[in-house]
Amino acid sequence: MSTEEDSAANVAAAGRPLRFAVIGAGMSGILTAIKLQEAGLDDFTIYEKAGRLGGTWRDNRYPGLSCDVPSHLYSYSFALNPGWSRWFSPGAEIQAYFEGIAKTYDVERRIRFNAEVTSATYSNGRWQLEIGDGTSDSVDVVIAATGVLHHPVYPDIEGLDSFAGPCFHSARWQDGLDLAGKRIGIIGTGSTAIQILPAIVDEVAKVSLFQRTAQWILPLPNPAYSEQEKTAFRESSTLMRNTYLHLAERFQNTFARAVVGDAQEMAKLEAACEANLRDNIADEELRRRLTPDYKVACKRLIMSDAFYPAIQQPNAELVTGGIERIEPGGVRTTDGVLHELDVLVLATGFDGHAFMRPMQVTGRDGLTLDDAWADAAEAYRSVALPGFPNFFMLAGPNSPIGNFSLIMISEMQLAYIMQLVELLRRGDAREIAPKADATARFNAAIREAMKGTVWVTGCRSWYLDKNGNPAMWPWTFERFEADMRAPDLTEFELVA
Ligand code: NAP
Repeated sequence: MSTEEDSAANVAAAGRPLRFAVIGAGMSGILTAIKLQEAGLDDFTIYEKAGRLGGTWRDNRYPGLSCDVPSHLYSYSFALNPGWSRWFSPGAEIQAYFEGIAKTYDVERRIRFNAEVTSATYSNGRWQLEIGDGTSDSVDVVIAATGVLHHPVYPDIEGLDSFAGPCFHSARWQDGLDLAGKRIGIIGTGSTAIQILPAIVDEVAKVSLFQRTAQWILPLPNPAYSEQEKTAFRESSTLMRNTYLHLAERFQNTFARAVVGDAQEMAKLEAACEANLRDNIADEELRRRLTPDYKVACKRLIMSDAFYPAIQQPNAELVTGGIERIEPGGVRTTDGVLHELDVLVLATGFDGHAFMRPMQVTGRDGLTLDDAWADAAEAYRSVALPGFPNFFMLAGPNSPIGNFSLIMISEMQLAYIMQLVELLRRGDAREIAPKADATARFNAAIREAMKGTVWVTGCRSWYLDKNGNPAMWPWTFERFEADMRAPDLTEFELVA
């Protein structure tokens, strides 16, 4: 073979050279980088708008932060960690895990920090990216790993800006803030507030929790792993893998089934939450005020065995009167009382429907994401969009974000996306996008299935979009696994 023939054969074996942009260096962006490298697809940059990787674990640093998915499950399947300190390890440890993984897999050097992708435009078969620092890039494939719970929601309460002391969203915790001996107000009763209160109650003079809606709480304990247990994990990768699989199976067969219509599993959850409230809140009046008026798990179910003891501490106060306004000295409730405060924490959640925004995405023929999603954020199997060729999402619309470990979900979605990428690499297609009718059918099925889920049984939650449709996965884990096994190419437009 001549040298020329030789190099042509090499190119054919390597396939079409592809350049990728990965947007976001959180859990799914780091995962994408690892898997692209593994596949020999080395030409990529991760664009990260912040100065540090980690996504939600970088942003959230409030006291008491942990993940309520067990740590041995909330791990990459290929990088299990024998050293987790607890069943539900603290946020700082999870952040350190992602930083460690980025080092081990040598992906840190791929990240461009402080580089926000402001626009992505499809033109002449490539995606043209504009970056906030004035630079640009041209890539064949975009993988958006921009996260879900990323944009803080600030409450629309009169006088919010007038508060005299530190006042911040829970995801913008002021590092180094000394709470000792101070009067703290927390607005909200979601997973975040319920983690913060027990973590600070012993150190503060007083903590007032402003509750608009009561929450169901599942009393999960959070024991530490002993040194012996950690050694056992370290010495046996089989033990770690079995633990991961066992936890995944338990999640899938209990909680994940209950929320999508399994009455038996739901009855168990309800009984556990009701017993928790009955057995652990002594005062009848407090119990009444903490009793929700909607079904268990309609809102994201809260896991904590620390909140009920903490709210019954003498220096903790549950305020249910409703907020009239915020004043320099504190929060005035509708009964006219001024709750005097030194620090005000807004644990008021996130916009879970802002996927990829504010980035401007323009697909084929000038179709913008804003137009495509004018009515609702809908995608083909959560990962792709008609009219947006070679553009893929992790944890996109209707991903099972509240049902299982999001790491496992991202891994499965990425494995699916990589099968589509392989078609591009092999030269089977230059452009891949889902068909509009297949996408419409998928979303019609989602809406129909949603009717059987607990999320639409009558409560306000961040799951619901402006039309009242939950941005969730309405089926079982098995259905998700089957959908993600391999793309059905009859549902895609492949342009040669
Ligand atoms: P959230 O669940 O959306 O809760 C926001 C809270 O703020 C709600 O209690 C809401 O009241 C209240 N609120 C909002 N605006 C208000 C206003 N104007 N006046 C009074 N109250 C107001 O937010 P989150 O607690 O940050 O949790 C969000 C999600 O993050 C969780 O559901 C979970 O998926 C994730 N998370 C997970 C963990 C974990 O351990 N894995 C920890 C923290 C967060 P209403 O209920 O009345 O709307």
